[in-house]
Amino acid sequence: MEWNEMLQYFDKIIKDYNFHLIRENEEFLNKHPDRKEDFKLTTVVIDDEEHRRWLFYDGETKTTYMNHYGEVAYQIFDSLVKSVPDNPNHEKFMEKARKHKIPESVLNECVKWAALYRDKILQIVNEISKNDQKDTLHAFDIWRQNRHIMYTKIWGREENLYSSSMEDMLEFCYDWTQEKVEEAVASDHEEAEELNDDMERVFKKNLFIFHDTIVIPDEEYGYIWGKVYVARDYGDTFSFDLLRILQGRVEKKIHLCPRCSSLFYSNDSKKRYCPDCRQEKNKIRQEKRMENPARKIHKNIIDSLRNTYGGGTVLDEFITESNYYWECVQGKQVSPHPGYDDNIQTKEDYLKWLEDYQAKIRKRKKPDKG
Ligand SMILES: [Zn+2]
Repeated sequence: MEWNEMLQYFDKIIKDYNFHLIRENEEFLNKHPDRKEDFKLTTVVIDDEEHRRWLFYDGETKTTYMNHYGEVAYQIFDSLVKSVPDNPNHEKFMEKARKHKIPESVLNECVKWAALYRDKILQIVNEISKNDQKDTLHAFDIWRQNRHIMYTKIWGREENLYSSSMEDMLEFCYDWTQEKVEEAVASDHEEAEELNDDMERVFKKNLFIFHDTIVIPDEEYGYIWGKVYVARDYGDTFSFDLLRILQGRVEKKIHLCPRCSSLFYSNDSKKRYCPDCRQEKNKIRQEKRMENPARKIHKNIIDSLRNTYGGGTVLDEFITESNYYWECVQGKQVSPHPGYDDNIQTKEDYLKWLEDYQAKIRKRKKPDKG
C-alpha cells in the first residue's frame, strides 16, 4: 500500500468505528448529548514494538506524528502535576492548554481532581521513576491500579477502595469485631478490582479499539510492522505506555524536580532540576549579578581571561584573589594572605581593585590586536 492510500484507509477505519460507536451508545447519547465529544474517535495509533515507539495519525488535522515509548505517560503525568494551582508552572501550563483549544470546562474538571489527588499522584510518579523492574509483581500492581489515572475521577474512586486498610477502618468502626473489619476491607478491594475491570472493558471496547496488524512503508526502516488501534486521541495510549515504562522498555526516565515538583523526562541522571527551574535559577543568578556591579565585573574579567589565556594559572589566581577580597568586604573571616592587598576593606575598595584589574588586561590585550 502506498502512503497516500494508507492514510485514506486510516480515515476509513476511523469513520467505521465511529459509526459503530455512536450506534451502540445511541440511547446514552440521546440522554446525554453533551457527552458526544467523549465518544469521538479521531486517531489511529500504531504500536511499533520493534523501534519502541507509537506512530499516530490524527484524522481531524490529517497529520502524523511519533512518540517514543514512555513519552505519552510522561506528558499525562506532567499535565496532572501542573494542573494543580499551587504548582509554580501552573499558569504557564494553563496558557498552553488554552492555546491548544482545550475547553475551559475540561480544564476546570482536570484542575479540580488533580488538586484533590495531588499527593497520591506525586507518590505514584515517584514510585514509577524509582521502579527498576526487579520486582515484577509489584510493577504489575502499580500498572493495574494506575492505568486509568488520567480519568482522575474514576481512578480516584478506585484508588480509595484499593487503599482501604484495617487501621483506617478500625479508627471509624471501633465497635466492630476483627472479623467484620477484615471482611469490609476485603470487600472494598474486591470492588476496586471490579471497577478496574469494568473500566478496562469500556475503555478497550469504546476508546482504544484493537483493529488489526499492519505493515506500513517507512522512510527510515523500509517497512514497519505494527498493531493498529483506533482511539480518541493520543492520550488514550496512556495505559499501554505506562506498561512499557514499568517493563523498562524506554530510553529515558521520568524525574521529579525537587524545587517545583514538576516532572521532566531525561536520560541524564546528573540533571537535578526541571528545564523551567534550571532556566529560572540561571535567571536569578544573573539578576543577582546585575544588582551587584562588583560581581558583574568579576564575571566579565573571568570571561576575558578565559578568552585571552584560555583559562590557566592567571585565571585561577584571579578567581582566588578576587574571591578573597569579596569575602573580606562582606565581613567574613579570612586567613591573612601575605601577597594580597590589606587596604581592600569596603565594597568600594573592591570595586576599584576590579576596575583597575580590568583596565590592566585591556591594555595588555591591545598590542596583540596590532
Ligand atoms: Zn522545577
